Amino acid sequence: AKEQGRNGFSFFTPAMQQQAHTRLLLANDLRDALAKEQLQVHYQPIVDVAGGAIVKAEALLRWRHPRRGMVPPDQFISIAEENGLIHDIGDWVFRQAVQTAKRWNADGRLARQISVNLSPRQFIKGDFYISWLAYLEHNGVPPEHIVIEITEGLLLDDRPDILQIINRLGDAGIQVSLDDFGTGYSAMAYLKKFPIDYLKIDRSFVRDLESDPNDRAIAEAIVVMAHKLGLKTIAEGVETEGQRDLLAAVGCEFVQGYLYAKPMPEAEFLAFAR
Ligand code: C2E
Ligand code: CA
Ligand code: CA
Ligand code: CA
Repeated sequence: AKEQGRNGFSFFTPAMQQQAHTRLLLANDLRDALAKEQLQVHYQPIVDVAGGAIVKAEALLRWRHPRRGMVPPDQFISIAEENGLIHDIGDWVFRQAVQTAKRWNADGRLARQISVNLSPRQFIKGDFYISWLAYLEHNGVPPEHIVIEITEGLLLDDRPDILQIINRLGDAGIQVSLDDFGTGYSAMAYLKKFPIDYLKIDRSFVRDLESDPNDRAIAEAIVVMAHKLGLKTIAEGVETEGQRDLLAAVGCEFVQGYLYAKPMPEAEFLAFAR
């Protein structure tokens, strides 16, 4: 396969070359983004279906690039995973979330829990949680105020330390959400092995909930299964009251989406949530 590459064959279309070039430029700029304070954490409300209260918030990373404007996380997280910056960036997001939780903690009316997305790369490195737990303790923030969002792929990895870390987090009081549930894999045996607290129903099942009986069946099946396993469910990408009502009808506990609010800077969140 090596020979083929040297023979001058190009497997890339011009569009792909342009994309690769952009990635390279972004990779360079990302090295300075943290130091130059171009990264920002936005918060999106997660609402209790029953009472309508904002009970949690998801921390979502934003990059204000000086020339390109807002670069969405889908475009730079994978770069950070490739060049290893994900560890520093991930630690930074966590510390931001803890500082925010500390402020909100003092104000009983605000979201009680903040969830942080974790790349499998961070998780596989394995030692992140030691400094995280120390940081929580140092700041006097109860671990119960933090939720970690992971994806299915991680749980299919059969390294024993993954289960160990999730157990440690759980013992410390940090809850775990399984993000994008239902998208990647059909093997669900891992669900009984890992102490997970929430399943997040992926947006792809929520989008057509009102028109597609199949999506309704899938959403309902996920909720029923989750409950039988002792988990609660959070539906993401909820944009209409119709979707919300259908989710409520099948017993989904929490909803998150533009129906309530987009992810926003903390100051805006405060104005919104009060
Ligand atoms: P995710 O964890 O599945 O996050 C949900 C995404 O759906 C967010 O996109 C959010 O803005 C968007 N969303 C929420 N409600 C709605 C809705 O009603 N309609 C629509 N159309 N979209 C909605 P965002 O912020 O662009 O993030 C994209 C992905 O980037 C996230 O997907 C997550 O996988 C990743 N990401 C974001 N922040 C971090 C981070 O701090 N660390 C890591 N490792 N990944 C992150
Ligand atoms: Ca997430
Ligand atoms: Ca998600
Ligand atoms: Ca998703």
